Parts: sequence; C-alpha cells; structure tokens
Amino acid sequence: MVIAGGKFYIVDIGPEATEVISSWRVPMTRLGGLFITHLHSDHIGELGEFNLQSWAQGRDKPLSVYGPPGVERVVNGFAAAYELDRDYRIAHHGAEMMSADNWVMNPVAVPLEGMITPTRERRATMLKDGDLTVTAIEVNHSPIEPAYAYRFDYKGRSVVISGDTSKHFGLAEASKGADVLVHEAQAKHVIEIMIGAAKEANNERLRKIFSDIQNYHTSPVEAAEIANVAGVKLLVLHHFTPPPNNPILGWSFLRGVSAVRSRGVVMADDHMLITVPLSGDAKPKVGRMN
Ligand SMILES: [Zn+2]
Ligand SMILES: [Zn+2]
Repeated sequence: MVIAGGKFYIVDIGPEATEVISSWRVPMTRLGGLFITHLHSDHIGELGEFNLQSWAQGRDKPLSVYGPPGVERVVNGFAAAYELDRDYRIAHHGAEMMSADNWVMNPVAVPLEGMITPTRERRATMLKDGDLTVTAIEVNHSPIEPAYAYRFDYKGRSVVISGDTSKHFGLAEASKGADVLVHEAQAKHVIEIMIGAAKEANNERLRKIFSDIQNYHTSPVEAAEIANVAGVKLLVLHHFTPPPNNPILGWSFLRGVSAVRSRGVVMADDHMLITVPLSGDAKPKVGRMN
C-alpha cells in the first residue's frame, strides 16, 4: 500500500492480501486504485475478494485496476465469478447501501511502446493523479511478458515497488534517486538446500520446480546490489521465497547481504509502516502500524 495525497493505492492482490489490508483500517473511500505487477496467481488471486470487501466496506466508486495487457481478462473473469455474490448482497442489504455501480471493476491495461529487448528498459506512465505520478517499469520475469514494477513519485519523493523479477539493471536505472525500493527476494542458497532434499526424497517434480524458479527471481544479495546501483536510501525486501518464519531463519535468509550493503536494508512484514518525510532530506523512517 502506498499512501500519498490523501489517497491510498494497492500494488498486487495475492492470497490473504484482503485480510491484511482490512487490518490497516483505511477508509475505502480513499482507495485511489489497484496496480497489478504481472498476472501470476500469487499477485492476482484475491482480486474478486478485495473488490467485494472494499465495496462492502464503503468504496464509493468503481475500482480501477491498472496492469499490463491481459489485466482485462483477469478483471472480467473475477467479475463474472462474483456477479451472483453481488446480487445476493444487494438483495440482502438493499441497493441504497450496496450500489451495483460501485461494485464495478475498471481494467486499465497499459502496454509498453516498442519491441521487447533483452535489457527490457521500457516504461509507461500509468496514472497521473494530482501531484502523484505512477510509472510502470519493465522488469525481467520471463516468460511473463511484460511484467512491471511501479514507481510512485509524489512531491519530489519516490517509492519503487517491484513484484517479481530476476536481477534487473533496468530496474536499478529506473529507481535512481528513489527514497525506497521494495524488492522481492528469493534466498537461492536456501532453495539449493530444498533441491537437495527433494532429490533425496526422489521427488523429481519438486526438484524441477525449485530449480526452475531460480532463474526469474532475485536473491537478497542481488537485490542489495541493485539498490546500491540505484542509490536508494532504503531497500525493503518482500515476497520472500521460502518465507523465513522466525528471526534465525531471517538471518539465514539475508546471508551475504551485509557485505554488499551494510545499512539501509529491512525485511518487510505485513504491518511495517515506512514514512518518507516530504521536507528536507530526512531518511525514510521504519515503524509499525498500530
Ligand atoms: Zn510472485
Ligand atoms: Zn511471478
């Protein structure tokens, strides 16, 4: 979630995201839009539920869903799946409270101009809303084409949020001068152990999946290198594979990072709040939602 200019914007809506968003208790009348980085299930799986819940919680306009081409199919599919539910809610609570017009999702598919290149350096403006500009940055999550990261620029401050990507210098270039880079992280040294375990268990299917996923993700050390090239003040790692469920696993996950970037790295959790002051050159502050 990015909060700027009195509105909030969501980036990606994977399974369980709706519950986490609800726990932040933000008024749904302030929802400025939803941005989808790419159309993998773990980034879109709760679109139907989020649309329903934000509508039930008082969203007073249709939900704009921005994303790469293909987002229309995803939106229309979820809408079809939830249409009966919409009708039940209206019948139960009354059309005055549950306006069918506000339930609507509007897909906004923004393509990238020109041909795809090995360095994937295309960008596109997704939204201009007052002082806020949201730019799509092409990343490399091949064979998912295109996949985006999003840069939010607001009054001279900026935050870049990447979904999934392999180590991508185009992302570093497009993140230059940003205050915060939110970047995925896959602990490949831990995945290697899992590959070994799958081999030992004669589970060829899992072994292959663990091997395949390595070439379209970024390790924590690689993400730190990208943050350094970009010169961002704070690197926030998120979307962990495998999820480190306790502090010691967290340290294992980050092995090697401090040698590359000794400060300005945090691992995200669902209730981390990062404040980027608008005045002066203060660093982003890491706190917690309460
Ligand atoms: Zn993912
Ligand atoms: Zn993905």
